[in-house]
Amino acid sequence: MQRAHIIALLEERFPLSLAEEWDQCGLQVGDENSDCQRVLVALDLDLQHLALLPEVDLVVTHHPLLFRPISRVCAATPLGRKLQALLEHDVALFSLHTPYDVAQGGLGEILAGYLGLTGTKPLLPRGGLVKLVVFVPVGYEERVANALFAAGAGKIGKYGHCSFRTKGTGTFLPEEGARPFLGQVGQEEHVEEIRLETIIPAERVARALKAMRAVHPYEEVAYDLYPLANNPTLHGLGRIGDLPERVSLSQVLQGFAQRLGVDGPRAVVGRWDQEIQRVAVCGGSGGDLVPQAIASGAELYITGEASYHRLKEAEEAGLTVALFGHAETEKPFVSHIAGLLRAECPKVEVMEG
Ligand SMILES: [Zn+2]
Repeated sequence: MQRAHIIALLEERFPLSLAEEWDQCGLQVGDENSDCQRVLVALDLDLQHLALLPEVDLVVTHHPLLFRPISRVCAATPLGRKLQALLEHDVALFSLHTPYDVAQGGLGEILAGYLGLTGTKPLLPRGGLVKLVVFVPVGYEERVANALFAAGAGKIGKYGHCSFRTKGTGTFLPEEGARPFLGQVGQEEHVEEIRLETIIPAERVARALKAMRAVHPYEEVAYDLYPLANNPTLHGLGRIGDLPERVSLSQVLQGFAQRLGVDGPRAVVGRWDQEIQRVAVCGGSGGDLVPQAIASGAELYITGEASYHRLKEAEEAGLTVALFGHAETEKPFVSHIAGLLRAECPKVEVMEG
């Protein structure tokens, strides 16, 4: 199997276009057009992983190896040693960083699942929505709509296959050299058409248009794309939701710690003697989402780490914050991605670092 194939599988679930502006992610080192038999999945490429590299073709990390510009690569620095080892053993490195944090089905939803939250929404919505309008001759609208739906269009909340269709008259005049599906060159045609409208997440537009063109009968497909100001709810940093019932704070934290595989939170800022129902969660450095957690009505905010000032802000607003550690709250990445790759690429050996 090609490395590029594995990378494409990951990008399909966690589109790189969802990356935060400041992020560095994607293929950072090596050649994706080579064979891949073994993959190492890790939160970071650590020095202890270097001994494994002779046996590995692709490393998939959460954190990027290259984040800030570098001016030298030499064995005297840990980063230099890592880059040297990757290149020496022809290993590619691909980082999924914030696209994994943000995407539907990524870190936010996994952590919300650990808590058993219901009615979850992104704490800080990301991604955009685009309205597609395409004109289809009557009789072909189902085919075109189904191709679009299969490519990720038409999803609003828990409703799929959302579209709107109106009938009207389309006109066109095929010019010299055209090979029209209907009508003749040099003669104006009036055709009964369906104006088919649907909604597409911005990162799926290219794929949806390709699928639409593949089944649309016209040589030149007439369509419009409109950017929407609607608030996207599919992707975003962190999640906010409700526990099925009010539970004591210690019970919530204990249950979460158990799922995370740690003893408990590193620190809790807030009152212990309270019952909780509305919970916000964000893995890693989620301190900057304290304002969103407050605005969302959360009683408890669980994250990896937060600055003194953000904790103070939360305390003053009456929001309890539990810190479980940066790596601890991102660790689910490793088993999640390793599991996905094992399921999708059974011939590839997947190691967890
Ligand atoms: Zn992180």
